Amino acid sequence: MKDIIQILPENVSNQIAAGEVVQRPASLIKELVENSIDASSDKIEIYLNDSGKKSIKVVDNGIGMSKNDLMICFQRHATSKITESKDLFHINSKGFRGEALSSIAAVSNLEIVSRRKIDKLGHKLKIKAGKIQSDEKVVTSVGTYVLVKNLFFNVPARRNFLKSDTVELRHIINEFQRIAIAHSEINFTLNQKSSEIFNLHKTTIHKRISNIFGKKIEENLLPIKEKTSFVKLKGYVIKPEVSKKTRGMQFLFVNNRFIKNNFLFHAINKAYEGLLPEKYYPGFFIFLEVDPSSIDVNIHPNKIEVRFEDDQSLYSILISTIKHSLGIFQVLPTIDFENQSSFEIPYSKRRERPVFPKIDLDKTFNPFKPESSKYHSKISNKSDTLYKEVGSSNLIDSKLINEIFNEDNNKIFQIMNSYLITSTRNSLLIIDQERAHQRIIYEELMKKITKPDNVSQKLVFPVSFIMNDAQKLIFVNLKNTLVEIGFRLEVEEKFKLKIVGIPSICTEGHASKIIEDLFDEFNNDFEIKSFSYADLIAKSISKSTSIKKGTLLAKEEQRNIINNLFDCKEKLLSPFQKKIFFSISKSELKNKFL
Ligand code: ADP
Ligand code: MG
Repeated sequence: MKDIIQILPENVSNQIAAGEVVQRPASLIKELVENSIDASSDKIEIYLNDSGKKSIKVVDNGIGMSKNDLMICFQRHATSKITESKDLFHINSKGFRGEALSSIAAVSNLEIVSRRKIDKLGHKLKIKAGKIQSDEKVVTSVGTYVLVKNLFFNVPARRNFLKSDTVELRHIINEFQRIAIAHSEINFTLNQKSSEIFNLHKTTIHKRISNIFGKKIEENLLPIKEKTSFVKLKGYVIKPEVSKKTRGMQFLFVNNRFIKNNFLFHAINKAYEGLLPEKYYPGFFIFLEVDPSSIDVNIHPNKIEVRFEDDQSLYSILISTIKHSLGIFQVLPTIDFENQSSFEIPYSKRRERPVFPKIDLDKTFNPFKPESSKYHSKISNKSDTLYKEVGSSNLIDSKLINEIFNEDNNKIFQIMNSYLITSTRNSLLIIDQERAHQRIIYEELMKKITKPDNVSQKLVFPVSFIMNDAQKLIFVNLKNTLVEIGFRLEVEEKFKLKIVGIPSICTEGHASKIIEDLFDEFNNDFEIKSFSYADLIAKSISKSTSIKKGTLLAKEEQRNIINNLFDCKEKLLSPFQKKIFFSISKSELKNKFL
């Protein structure tokens, strides 16, 4: 039989390598910007078209390349950064594998223009799927620009795998932020078509963080600093009381390289132990500086994972440094105090204005009486598809609902400040108050979207919010939907968002939290899984403004929750598809006492 093994042609092996290095437009940003940093640039500009799917251009003012270097820079294993294997243990540059440009060239149309200071003219190279198309002398400024067009044009499977422009842009912004925070000594801009997303001037790390995330973060940054024989540690941790339910604010750098390392993350979490509520994550910007020979960055193609020689010691140093910083600033007592003082006060008494609940309640409402169709017909066909969530209404026992509405079930109890218990002739009902309230808010907001009524609750004290560039972008996308559901918003001085009205279902005291949570939600890799912004916004608001578990409710509030829940189209599941209540039938109860 014939021999069957062959060495793959270079274009095929480059495409395979590209699979590891280039996953999406954001990977190009990482690789190209890292090359610009390695070339000692202090000004790097990024231009996107269609979130990088159509084109990405990275322009720098670095050292540039000679004509000969330019002619080979896009070949596999072409690098100026290491020459022999022992160099692998002293990596000071971002790159060293010589794979990025060859991988990118294999799956796109590439244009590279470069000029060194000592050359009068620069050179321009056009490459398509790894092959040179043209090569010419050009007038250009010192530095390099790389233009990548039609990413994955020759790998349809990859191209189809790309997500919506919003999602890809989110990934790009995440990648951009990681690099920009690690290199506050460099000027960066990020532009999409004609609009500027970020324009960051060289500055301190502290200022760079606030330029990216908004001035408000400054007061919540606690500095950390430590120096031992093998590591220098500096940066900031975020005060526990403003921590988030997402991991979006976790930045760990080693020798100015953004990394992920679960072992060290564990140390950081440990330092925050006892300071964070369940499911909240610490926020941090931590810079470790170690001898390059004590780490191995060559364990992952895009170098986001790093192996440490002595991670045990690093682990303990991280814990003690962070704890020290959290301790110095006396974070513990405030948190304890707040928890206790807010515990036994009924929800309504804690607000400036006891407006809960704002829903007009039809006490005689019964979904099974013929006139109830009024309520349902208010919601158009469009909304029926909007409401099409995991089909579940059929799970609910219609007899049970009938009972609840037809009986005068006076008896409602709240237990553990979290669950409402009521009974009917034939069963016992246990309701999760937080999930029930989420469902009520969600449906109320969705109703407004399908049938806008222009009703808004004017705020007695308007709330202002300073947006950063990323938030501004999110705001532009969400604005119309927010107005439809009852927000009244004014933008002053380009970045100052003033909230003057909120949906009537929301409580005045919640105004700024709603907006902050919304920005967070959309800021953190929020993949668009649902069908519309409206759904996402309604979910986010239902989460941030619902009555939480652990909240004591007055009798009237307990009753309102139960009544309003049974006004909802979907009664059994929260907007997040969690069970709202369950029932125990009389016969089940009887069985318990056999
Ligand atoms: P690596 O960065 O791992 O060396 P790349 O494929 O990313 O591999 O780049 C190959 C080489 O091209 C680099 O080593 C560098 O010499 C040169 N190069 C790439 N981008 C630039 C740039 N923006 N300015 C100057 N030289 C560059
Ligand atoms: Mg590189």
